[in-house]
Amino acid sequence: MARFHDVLIVGGGHGGAQTAIALRQNGFAGSIAIIGDEPEPPYERPPLSKEYLAGDKTFERLHLRPEAFWRDRAIDLVLGARVDFLDPTLKQVVTTGGERFGYGALVWATGGRPRRLDCEGGDLAGVHAIRTRADVDLLRSELPAARRVVIIGGGYIGLEAAAVLRKFDKSVTLIEAQHRLLARVAGPTLSRFYEAEHRDRGVDVRLASTVSRLVGAEGRVNGVVLASGERLAADLVIVGIGVAPAVEVLRQAGALGTNGVLVDDRCRTSLADVFAIGDCAARKSRFSPTAVRIESVPNANEQALTVACELTGRERDHDAPPWFWSNQFDLRLLTVGLSDGFDVEVVRGDPATKSFSVVYLREGRIIALDCVNAAKDFARGKSLVANGVLTTPGLIADVNIPLP
Ligand code: NDP
Repeated sequence: MARFHDVLIVGGGHGGAQTAIALRQNGFAGSIAIIGDEPEPPYERPPLSKEYLAGDKTFERLHLRPEAFWRDRAIDLVLGARVDFLDPTLKQVVTTGGERFGYGALVWATGGRPRRLDCEGGDLAGVHAIRTRADVDLLRSELPAARRVVIIGGGYIGLEAAAVLRKFDKSVTLIEAQHRLLARVAGPTLSRFYEAEHRDRGVDVRLASTVSRLVGAEGRVNGVVLASGERLAADLVIVGIGVAPAVEVLRQAGALGTNGVLVDDRCRTSLADVFAIGDCAARKSRFSPTAVRIESVPNANEQALTVACELTGRERDHDAPPWFWSNQFDLRLLTVGLSDGFDVEVVRGDPATKSFSVVYLREGRIIALDCVNAAKDFARGKSLVANGVLTTPGLIADVNIPLP
């Protein structure tokens, strides 16, 4: 017998939780369940690589809502359960434990899984990912005994972890395969700025560098061997080399998409009554002519609101520009838009003051901003990107002239 829910949400992260919250806010009276594979009720993920790793916030402070919230709103939490089969004709999913759930509408919000190091030694003890509470609890339990940490990957996970570990005075070496940090998400100016900041704070940054194997003794890592042959001693290794969208079940059920699952502007997949949101969903928008996955909490929340409106017959603007934030040391980065495909990057302000913005233009239009300790530029930037404002580099670069 399958348990039936009018809306069944698979994935208990930001997107899944926000869908349920927004449905109730919109007055949805049908039954709702969230199936999540972690044992905890929905919690905030961004602090995992910042305040939670640093020990500045307890886990209780990361809960997205108190436990009573879910109960009071009749949102059924099915925790510690993983869906591994979807029958789109019967409109049912099956968990690894064999439980069946029927649905009126299915919202797939499973996010992504950290990519694993595909080399010898990648599964030794002492090699950590940062994606879940369990990952960080394990990492934190091993930190006190570790002096030398090697971080693999120079994206936000690697850089935020490096900033926390330097605060603890660990010796940190960061290995990045690309010729610059943050290469997937930012332009060269921002990459150079973060590289310099990390070096200044004692992080040994190795660019254009790859790992050939991890080595250890008695099953525990004690070194990283680079493709150059150099061997780095390591008491602990953190791997932040990106995420792979968790969409195998949807793809096996016939959903279209190559990198993630393809959705339209209402987050509908190619399967009837099946939506996908967040890190696992790829879509075209006026900010990206090709379908892209946007890996950020604000995007997951936005798409959750879109689905909740769609399921409750409400209209909303589905085209807000994507945004993101990252905290490292005393640097608060706020970004808006997608810089991919820019033809000019303009620096507004002086990076030496640690308060500046990079404005990205394509054919004279503003497509994105990266703002370091420059919240005003970010606030203004949202509408500049939303409207694709036409401007010139000279006007943008002059800090005495307000942004258009
Ligand atoms: P990213 O994909 O952003 O960065 C990973 C980097 O590691 C890439 O530059 C990648 O290069 C490089 N890399 C890949 N393989 C290797 C290798 N074998 N050796 C060395 N370098 C390698 O992923 P992250 O893991 O940093 O972050 C995961 C997700 O979590 C992202 O979506 C991120 O935005 C999100 N996040 C959000 C935060 C926030 O809310 N502030 C904080 C932290 C993370 P290549 O592109 O060539 O593969």
